Amino acid sequence: MNIAKLQESMYKLVVETSTKLPKDVRRAVKRAKEIENAGTSAAMSLATITNNIKMADDQVSPICQDTGLPTFKIKTPVGVNQLEIKEAIRNAIVLATKEGKLRPNSVDSLTGDNSGDNLGAGVPVIKFDQWEKDYIDVRLILKGGGCENKNIQYSLPCELDGLGRAGRDLDGIRKCIMHSVYQAQGQGCSAGFIGVGIGGDRSSGYDLAKEQLFRSVDDVNPNEDLRKLEEYVMENANKLGIGTMGFGGEATLLGCKVGVMNRIPASFYVSVAYNCWAFRRLGVSVNAETGEINEWMYQDGEFIDFSEGEAAMQETAATSEGVITLQAPISEEQIRSLKVGDVVQINGMMYTGRDAIHKYLSDHEAPVDLNGQVIYHCGPVMLKDEAGTWHVKAAGPTTSIREEPYQGDIMKKFGIRAVIGKGGMGPKTLAALKEHGGVYLNAIGGAAQYYADCIKSVEGVDLMQFGIPEAMWHLSVEGFTAVVTMDSHGNSLHADVDKSSLEKLATFKEPVFK
Ligand code: SF4
Repeated sequence: MNIAKLQESMYKLVVETSTKLPKDVRRAVKRAKEIENAGTSAAMSLATITNNIKMADDQVSPICQDTGLPTFKIKTPVGVNQLEIKEAIRNAIVLATKEGKLRPNSVDSLTGDNSGDNLGAGVPVIKFDQWEKDYIDVRLILKGGGCENKNIQYSLPCELDGLGRAGRDLDGIRKCIMHSVYQAQGQGCSAGFIGVGIGGDRSSGYDLAKEQLFRSVDDVNPNEDLRKLEEYVMENANKLGIGTMGFGGEATLLGCKVGVMNRIPASFYVSVAYNCWAFRRLGVSVNAETGEINEWMYQDGEFIDFSEGEAAMQETAATSEGVITLQAPISEEQIRSLKVGDVVQINGMMYTGRDAIHKYLSDHEAPVDLNGQVIYHCGPVMLKDEAGTWHVKAAGPTTSIREEPYQGDIMKKFGIRAVIGKGGMGPKTLAALKEHGGVYLNAIGGAAQYYADCIKSVEGVDLMQFGIPEAMWHLSVEGFTAVVTMDSHGNSLHADVDKSSLEKLATFKEPVFK
């Protein structure tokens, strides 16, 4: 085996997966755009998403800043040295991280230390199988934390919100899948894709669910029962009205793939792997002797280049008469004038903060004056040039709900007026927004290139000891667009969409599959 060539092939696979959505996923995103109602926040989100896909294509930059836990599934001919393949992958990962194609995402689970190169115990995930063919099949998925955290496993029989009893049969499985879409709301950056594994044990069930994400969006399940189930879910999950980013709307689910395996009599698991719209999975077949790529997978059919993305964004901006410009620092009076549904554009400074920063700020002073300022839940991809200047390579929002235990207290302690993230926050934060005069702004999850473009300069950084994604970056922005989804009057779009989608979920209570 030519190891240098294999390493080059693996590097190409990693870069292509991080920066370019496969053709089948692009077509699914296009279908979502077609069914969404013009002029809504969901339509604006989809315009931002497609614009972002195009920007990532053009700049060969990560589609989303969360490049996830790289997971490789590999099939090798008998006799091929799997250790060499592992080494080639690890080297390719290190290089892709160094070049800003992957965010350093491997963190020691006990100390929180970031390895900086995406290596570490269990990272990347590499799983091998052998087969009788004479070439190597390598598939890669980059699945970020926002959607990974919305995976769910059901142990049947169980009671489900809105749907009642889910028994140990096809109809019980149907209920679990419908529930899995409901419980994800917009937090996994909907509209999303789900892989479902029926059977197995807790770990093999999840493996089977993830395995389904390696199927093409357009394939047809050869198992007749599962084909009907997939079609049912696709037809009905979009009636829940969760919509893109959970803003409400027509496009909630873009793909559903179901697989089945045996189980032991005492256990009956339904495992669901949720993937965001930024469904980054690709594959290559590799010549087992030369290490060269023979063929790319998931690349059949029409290629949607989304070149209309920018025009659609401009059109959206032009029709958004009500877009409100905010200049940071922002006064309490301005914040209290905002209400759920308003679209805002922010100019001025914002400061990133995610898990480590929120924990730190809860028992330390802030390194900068945050009075009237904006906190951005974001772990960007950053690169330093030879002159020592930092550049933002990708900077979309991260899931906000993780900061729920801290957020309200920190806003009040430091006088922060706005928090930007994705997926919304809970009752504690909502109460603090009302009491203190604050607002939660939902940015478009995964739109890492679009938001990186809004960042005009990096003015500084604090708390680098937490690693690049977790540090507090001082960003100067222009025209940073987001939607008010929680206001200072006690309103939460997230709570409203949750309530209405639960009501709709309950309409699917009656058995469908006998
Ligand atoms: S699009 Fe959203 S859920 Fe997906 S990786 Fe990016 S931030 Fe995470």
